[in-house]
Amino acid sequence: MAVPLLDMKRQYVKIKDEIDRAVINVLEHGRFIFGPEVTALEEKLAAFSGVKYGIGVASGTDALLLSLRAAGVKPGDEVITSDYSFISSTTVISRVGAIPVFVDIDPDTFNINPKLIEKAITKKTRVIMPVHLFGQCADMDPIMAIAKKHNLVIIEDAAQSLGAKYKNRMAGSFEGYGCTSFYPTKNLGGAGDGGMVVTDNADYADRLKMFRNHGWKQKYHPTEIGYNSRLDSIQAAILLVKLKYLNEANEGRRAHAAKYDKAFAGTRVRTPKAKDYSYHIYNQYTIAVENRDELLKGLEARKIGHEVYYPVPFHLLECYPDLPYKKGDFPHSEWAADSVVSIPVYPELTDAEQDEVIEAIKEISG
Ligand SMILES: *Cc1c(COP(=O)(O)O)cnc(C)c1O
Repeated sequence: MAVPLLDMKRQYVKIKDEIDRAVINVLEHGRFIFGPEVTALEEKLAAFSGVKYGIGVASGTDALLLSLRAAGVKPGDEVITSDYSFISSTTVISRVGAIPVFVDIDPDTFNINPKLIEKAITKKTRVIMPVHLFGQCADMDPIMAIAKKHNLVIIEDAAQSLGAKYKNRMAGSFEGYGCTSFYPTKNLGGAGDGGMVVTDNADYADRLKMFRNHGWKQKYHPTEIGYNSRLDSIQAAILLVKLKYLNEANEGRRAHAAKYDKAFAGTRVRTPKAKDYSYHIYNQYTIAVENRDELLKGLEARKIGHEVYYPVPFHLLECYPDLPYKKGDFPHSEWAADSVVSIPVYPELTDAEQDEVIEAIKEISG
């Protein structure tokens, strides 16, 4: 039996009537830009995250980019981020002319290792951008302490972690800019691109609203160079429906993860570690194995959906020939890039399908 890595259609059919009605409603009222659904979603997502403001933008990538601009990051400034994430977590830094400074991960969580951050701070450092990868928050207490001590802004990349918690605090709510994505594969996925920044800071919220709309507060009078980066009303309408089911969906992912954890215990498959501080929502269930080539071939042959998130650590990216890094600099992210595979964990995965995935991996990897 073929098992897809993700199946968007299964989500849709369960709530088709509600989604269809929400979309048609927008088509009928016609306020496609900054419609009432956008404001409603901003309010709901801010409340969900435990903060005051939500600012809808065109993508998760733009959420990060606009946050860097709103934080006043300038060419030549340095921004510290994890060496191991989706490409946007570093390219946004370069796009504002700043210099990305990478820090190795904790191999248990795939998240930035807080113990290595202070060594990376210089006089030019302005921001720390922790990524909450795969659905688990980075270790935020030590990160916040370092940010306070060195007077640095926090921009959280929570694109994969909407609904995840760190010690009962929501991802995205850590006194800075909380960036999330509605890309279809995320836990709250739209029918296209979209993103949001949540924040408790009124000034941050104001600046983000300005940057997403051409850099002006007063129409045609921009005070800074801005962007056209807005969340569409149709996307917001769809997301408002899906938000109602997000906690239930995250619980479904957690149940699948628990079953995988048990099934792979005592095998050579290294399973993801959920820390005590963590409510992990498994945007990805990412295992690590020594014989990855063999595993990839076996999964391919059995038509079991899988993906290597991510095959290249940031310090070895081809688009960064001029950054001062070389192979060997960050052993844990290099290990991850060579060893990981993400396997199906979406809420609608059936028991029979999950059994098939488990059997296949046990057979191939032992
Ligand atoms: C998906 C993702 C992004 C970018 O979000 P888009 O909406 O695709 O632009 C950024 N960071 C991480 C960690 C992501 O997974």
